[in-house]
Amino acid sequence: MPTHIKNNIYAIIGNSAAGLAAIESIRRVDQSSRIVNISNQPQRPYSRCLLSYYLAGQYDKDILWIRPEDYYKKYDTEVLLNTAVTGADIKNKTLEISGKKKISFDKLLIATGASAKFLNIKGADKKGVFVLRTLEDADGILRMLPNVKNACILGGGLIGLRAAYALKRRGVAVHVIVKSEHIFSQMLDAEAADIMRQHLEVNGIEISTGLEAAEISGKDSVDGVILDDGNRLDCQLIIIGKGVAANLGIVKGQVKTDMGILADERLETDRKDIYAAGDAAQAYDVLEEKNNVNQIWPAAIRQGKIAGLNMAGEEIKYEGSYGTNSLDFFDLAVMSFGVVKPKGGGFEELIALDAKRRLYRKIVVKGERIVGGVLINDVERHGILLHLALQKIDISDIKDILADEYFDFGKVIPLIKRQANLFIRPEYKDTCVTYSPLY
Ligand SMILES: Cc1cc2nc3c(=O)[nH]c(=O)nc-3n(C[C@H](O)[C@H](O)[C@H](O)COP(=O)(O)OP(=O)(O)OC[C@H]3O[C@@H](n4cnc5c(N)ncnc54)[C@H](O)[C@@H]3O)c2cc1C
Repeated sequence: MPTHIKNNIYAIIGNSAAGLAAIESIRRVDQSSRIVNISNQPQRPYSRCLLSYYLAGQYDKDILWIRPEDYYKKYDTEVLLNTAVTGADIKNKTLEISGKKKISFDKLLIATGASAKFLNIKGADKKGVFVLRTLEDADGILRMLPNVKNACILGGGLIGLRAAYALKRRGVAVHVIVKSEHIFSQMLDAEAADIMRQHLEVNGIEISTGLEAAEISGKDSVDGVILDDGNRLDCQLIIIGKGVAANLGIVKGQVKTDMGILADERLETDRKDIYAAGDAAQAYDVLEEKNNVNQIWPAAIRQGKIAGLNMAGEEIKYEGSYGTNSLDFFDLAVMSFGVVKPKGGGFEELIALDAKRRLYRKIVVKGERIVGGVLINDVERHGILLHLALQKIDISDIKDILADEYFDFGKVIPLIKRQANLFIRPEYKDTCVTYSPLY
């Protein structure tokens, strides 16, 4: 057999962002081995990111599909849809499928993603209680809508508020119940959250903070939610938005895990030939400078791609991801990246707030570097700030003006002069040549 012909069996669990990226990168370098893709999802791959837009009626279902129907044929991949991996024997390299059949593998990618956290309170099993993670969730909510006048969203994070926005666009009266003292508590300070809250309230979304659902009422179907202050809200639909947790169950106890499956710089776990990528993985974060779970689509794609190449015998180092979010609610934009709520010492927060104009900028600095930021309603400079952060550029010359309203590309020129070798992206190169003859 010629040496370039490989004879592996690659098993990939999950057919979303990370799993697909791995299939595609394996096939770039290995056209001969077997790839088996197993997913408990019944349908071909779709974009989870678009689910709230689909729920809002902004997109039809057609837009959700991210790969054509003949995808698996094209990538010469055996696919088992609607099939759960119920166990894994990492030592003997076998997977248990739906409680019985075994599949052997040489290399395994765990791209099982994450699941929405549920709320275990009395009545949570009633008809009309949902999370928003899968197409089935979105379709289930849509089927209920003709009979829904009022909905309660339990949780004031990204998914909860996206669901609230979507339902509002569908003409439903929405009340968001938030346990924390303010919305977006993982991302925003109280002042910034206040800007968002006022904006959402002006646009008809009701928000109560510092409260938790204690019980869901109704016979078989939801008819209300009882809060921990004793008050009751009428509603026919509840969406729980309490964050997500990595799906680790299959391999827990067999590979090292923390918040996710710990993956090294090749995206391999502590067990040889076992890789992890996407929402299930806890891999290097360039801005946090440690392993972190960054459960976002671009990180899943990149990790899947690098893991796939390494599974197929390449030696590619994963450069690391960073957390980032971008939102737009009723034309108010928010962008965040990296460390947004620093814990521990050594951080400095540069904040500019103009509540009247709904402007907020926070830049988080550690030492002489930007490590994170949040921008509300003034997101154009996001790209420059992110570049300074990712390239680890010493910003001490311009620290005083970083959060200024008038901070723009021109203010970065002193840095380009001093650190031209770090401004490597095409949009900066010309400037570097102009300002730094040595570039
Ligand atoms: C409503 C919503 C909006 C979002 N918006 C954004 C956004 O705007 N930007 C952004 O960057 N990210 C967004 N995300 C997050 C993004 O969708 C995820 O980061 C991304 O889907 C992760 O991809 P993944 O491949 O790691 O895992 P997932 O997409 O979670 O897929 C995991 C796959 O594994 C399968 N699986 C799990 N367990 C098993 C098992 N035991 N056996 C077989 N198969 C299994 C599942 O069926 C699924 O196919 C959003 C998520 C949601 C829910």
